[in-house]
Formats: sequence, C-alpha cells, structure tokens
Amino acid sequence: MSHRYAVIGNPVEHSRSPTIHAQFARQTGIDLEYGRILAPVDGFVAAVERFRDEGGSGLNVTLPFKLDAFAWAARHSARATEAGAVNTLRFDADAGGSAWGDNTDGAGLVRDLCERNGFALAGRSVLLLGAGGAARGIVGPLLDAGVTRLVVANRSRANAERLAEKFAARAVHPVCVALDAIEPGFDLIVEASGSGLRDERVPIVDEVFEAASLAYDLYYAASPTAFVRQARGAGCRAACDGLGMLVEQAAESFLDWHGVRPQTDPVYSALREALHIGSTPQRPPSQ
Ligand code: NDP
Repeated sequence: MSHRYAVIGNPVEHSRSPTIHAQFARQTGIDLEYGRILAPVDGFVAAVERFRDEGGSGLNVTLPFKLDAFAWAARHSARATEAGAVNTLRFDADAGGSAWGDNTDGAGLVRDLCERNGFALAGRSVLLLGAGGAARGIVGPLLDAGVTRLVVANRSRANAERLAEKFAARAVHPVCVALDAIEPGFDLIVEASGSGLRDERVPIVDEVFEAASLAYDLYYAASPTAFVRQARGAGCRAACDGLGMLVEQAAESFLDWHGVRPQTDPVYSALREALHIGSTPQRPPSQ
C-alpha cells in the first residue's frame, strides 16, 4: 500500500504541492499518494487527527495553520522550535503515531536565493515585510546564512515584535521598524505579507527598491506579482517570485519523510512552464 500525504490549509485548492510531490515520487521511484485537505479555520486539529488515524504518514501545513501545527506537534526540529511554526508534520509509527514537526520554509528560501538566483547572503542587509507563519520560518535560516542586518516591518507592530523576540538571543537579531519609516539601505527585500494574494502594492517608497539588488516575493502567480511589478517599476535590479522557494521547501519536506533529496530543477522548470510565466527569475548582475 502506498503511503499517504497531503497539504492542509484554508484555502488549499490553489496548492501546487500535490503536483510537486507526484513529480518527486516519480523521479525517486517512491510509491505515495498526495492530496489536499481543506480544514475549517477552527478545525485544524480534528482534520489532522482524522487523517493520521486513517493511516496518513505526513502533512504539509499552509496558511493559516502553521502556528497551530507547531502547538499540536509532540516533537519539533530545532528550526521549527526557533520559528514557533511548522509546515511539515511526520507521523512516526515507531513513536505511536506521535507527530514530529519541522519548518522547511527558510531552508527552501535560502536554497532558492543562493543556488537558483545566485544571491549570496553572507554580509547582506535584508528587509522582511510580514511577520506571519512564513516570516517566522525564514528568519533563522537567513541569519544562519550570514545576513548581518535583518529589519522586520509588518502591519501589526506587535506581531513583528513577537517575531523579533524569538530571535533576541542571536548575535545578529531582527530589528522592527514601522512600514512608513523604512529607508533605503537593503540588499534584499523579502515580501511575506501576502500582498500578491490581494494584488496590492506594499507601502514602501521607490527609493528602497531602487537601492536593492533583489526583491523576492514569497507569493507566486501565473503573471508577475504585484510586488514584482512594483519592484521592477521602481528600478530594483532584479525581482522574482516564490515559485523556486515552493519547490525547494517541498524537497526539504520530501527529505524529512523519505530520507531522499529529489532533484528540484526539472520540477521547477515544469511548474514555471505550466504557469505560463515564461521566463526564469532575473539574476542580480553581480554577487
Ligand atoms: P500568515 O497568514 O501567517 O501571515 C500573513 C502576514 O501578512 C502577516 O504578517 C500579516 O500581518 C500580513 N497581512 C495580512 N493581511 C494584510 C494586509 N491586508 N495588509 C498588510 N499586511 C497583511 O501567512 P504566511 O506567513 O503563511 O504567508 C505569507 C505569504 O507567503 C503568502 O503570500 C503565502 O502564499 C506566501 N508563502 C509562500 C511560500 C513559498 O514556498 N513560496 C511558503 C509560505 C508562504 P499582521 O501580523 O498584521 O496580521
């Protein structure tokens, strides 16, 4: 019998994870089923426990449930503990089905930035827009990659401060600023406030983009996202969406579940083609 996996979220019908994991499975010869679970906003735990009790082996968790998944998992990886957010659950039969939670978002972003986009993070200054589940997952891996300044700006200042507090013990730790007080001086701008979902511009001035080498939107779509359009229009040297991160974080989850890291480039290219976006992300001119 093949092992069963799924992505759980609300909404979830847009998720490309089933396609990605089906391609990884074909590539590695691993027999699995991977579906989608739409859970009511107040019904995460019931939906997860039903899936597990029916024989499910693991779940990817997407918005708005990453903090709930952290709270529900019995055990966590170090990076999930630091983030306080989980995007990968594994139900371990040898641990009585108790759940282990990981967070692969940050590793996925860093890999996409460094390897697909050729953007070296060491010594860089980064502006992070947003302080939700995805933002929590990427702060630790960005700091681990050698970022020397990390500024977080979010609609709700309290949520930004809660995020920053989680990393306060680090030698380099996030600093919070108000969205309307952001000044130029960043190499990389990471958009994690879901502006793409709303097709909205982010409230920062053009000069911030103009001075940056790369603008990276975690959101992805069939045509350039609002943030990518804004960054390019403001003169940012390069801008790309989060399709590469999506594939890389999925590969990291696949590794968690199956102990094998799949090849991501063919899957990324096939998805990009299927989305009819046409071009690969622009490379920053010099890194
Ligand atoms: P969450 O719901 O956990 O967090 C949402 C964030 O967006 C919060 O910081 C919230 O601010 C902010 N926000 C929400 N609505 C507004 C608004 N109207 N105006 C300004 N800010 C707003 O979502 P996630 O962190 O999980 O996801 C964020 C984005 O990242 C999504 O677009 C998602 O698709 C993308 N993503 C992409 C991944 C990939 O692999 N490419 C992986 C994970 C996420 P506040 O704190 O004030 O509520």
